[in-house]
Parts: sequence; C-alpha cells; structure tokens
Amino acid sequence: MSNFFSKDGNSAENEKLFVQNKELNSQFDNSISGQYNELKNNYEQIFMEAVEDIRSELDKIRPKDACNNCTNKDCKLEKKDIFSHYPPLGCKLREWQMQAITYLTGDYRTKLKVSYKEIMSKKNDYECNKCGACCRLAVSEYSYNQLKQRAMKGDKFSEDFVSVFVPIESEEDAKKVNPEYFELLNKLVQEDRIYYYHCPKVGEDNLCTMYENRPFICRDFPHNPLKLLPSECSFNAWKNEVAHQAMLLKAKTDLIDFYKQKLG
Ligand code: SF4
Ligand code: SF4
Repeated sequence: MSNFFSKDGNSAENEKLFVQNKELNSQFDNSISGQYNELKNNYEQIFMEAVEDIRSELDKIRPKDACNNCTNKDCKLEKKDIFSHYPPLGCKLREWQMQAITYLTGDYRTKLKVSYKEIMSKKNDYECNKCGACCRLAVSEYSYNQLKQRAMKGDKFSEDFVSVFVPIESEEDAKKVNPEYFELLNKLVQEDRIYYYHCPKVGEDNLCTMYENRPFICRDFPHNPLKLLPSECSFNAWKNEVAHQAMLLKAKTDLIDFYKQKLG
C-alpha cells in the first residue's frame, strides 16, 4: 500500500486519505459480485484517480503568487501543500485552503451531482425482467423493530420498507429463498449483522399484486449502483456499465468530507 502511494511524494497524506476512507472500502466490499472482482483489484487505482483529480483541481485555484516568503514568524514551513498548517491571518496559502473548501463543497460537488444524474439516467436503458428476486429476499442492516422506529421518526425509506416487507424468521429460511444470493451476502457482509425480509405481495408468477400502488422504494429499485443485487437481476448490467464512474463518485464524495475535516 505505501509503495503505491509513494510515487508523488505525499505518501503519508495519501495513506491517511486511504485509511480515512474506510466507509468507501466497506461500501465497495459490500457491493461486489463475481463480475466486480476486477474492479476490486483496481480499487486503489480508482481511489488514486479521485485523489489526483481533486489535487489537480485545487492546483488550478492556487494563487500564483501564493507565498512571497513573507516574514510571518509563525510560518516555518518548508513544504507548502494543501494540508500544511499556515498562519490563520495574512497568508495567501491559508486563503487558498479556505477557497478549496468553498470550491469542493460548491462547484466541485455540483459536478459530482451531474455525474450522479448521469449514472441514474443510464438505468433507464435497462428494464426489470420481473424475476421477483428482490421481492422474495431483501436485506437490511436494521431489525424490523428498528425499521418501525425509524419510520415513526419520519424516515421515508423505512416507512416504505415496513409497509410491504416482513421479516424472514430464520437464516435457514432466508437461505432456502435464494441460496446463491444468501451466500454472497454472507460472504461479503462479514462483520455487520443483517436482517432478511420478504414481501408477501409478490405472486407465484413473480409479479407484484399491488403493482399500481407499490411504494416508491420498489419503483426506484435499485436506487444505488453500489448495491449488491441478486444475480438474476437485469440491473446488474447497469451496475457493470457504471461501476467505475460510481466508485469514483463515491471516492470523491468521501474525499470532500476529508478535506473539510482537515482544512476547516
Ligand atoms: S410491493 Fe410489489 S414490487 Fe414491492 S416488493 Fe412487494 S411484490 Fe415486489
Ligand atoms: S431483482 Fe431486478 S430484475 Fe428481478 S424483479 Fe427485482 S428489479 Fe426486477
């Protein structure tokens, strides 16, 4: 890992970025299926792509006459990069850091939103094949009671979820529903407890018996290109198409939070 990060001379900082990005790591790990192994192997590269993109964007807004080697006695810096600690007043590089946060949380984030819209609009190129797999076996990190509590507190996703899904009593029963998907979930979600659900509204022909009135979470499914899907799901083709872009987007989004934390 450190060898990989050492090429641009910012190995320690890059390594910190990588470690800070645990959430992305776990999201990534939770979302892979067989066809994603190659992407997993390329993960460091995708993450570095995000790091380099942000760094080059910030270089573009770095003031040309940023450091005039002023006599500010608080400044004893030899290396002057975006993560250095500059004096709070009278230093253009400190101003650059503040501009960086404004840029990343403003125009840069807007670009990411455009990328997200592109990803989601590509989903329209694919159609549900009506296999019913997502209705017969759904998973959540929350227990049924937790979901109901979240729904009562106004969480719309939880409200939709408990309006149709009910718990599957045991892991053995969940496994019988879709052994391959069950195994995949268990293999990839190793640390966290997950809960299994099914929707009684799916018919034997796999069609939804309340199709016209199905909740938004069903109309919108799958709403996340990083989500693990059953192998039967025709939207795996969409996931494959947008996987790189989606990973990059997630890495960049997490990096914005990191920059805010470091420079704020
Ligand atoms: S409401 Fe219909 S679409 Fe939604 S999970 Fe149930 S059967 Fe599937
Ligand atoms: S698993 Fe995918 S293809 Fe199958 S019913 Fe659900 S959305 Fe449609």
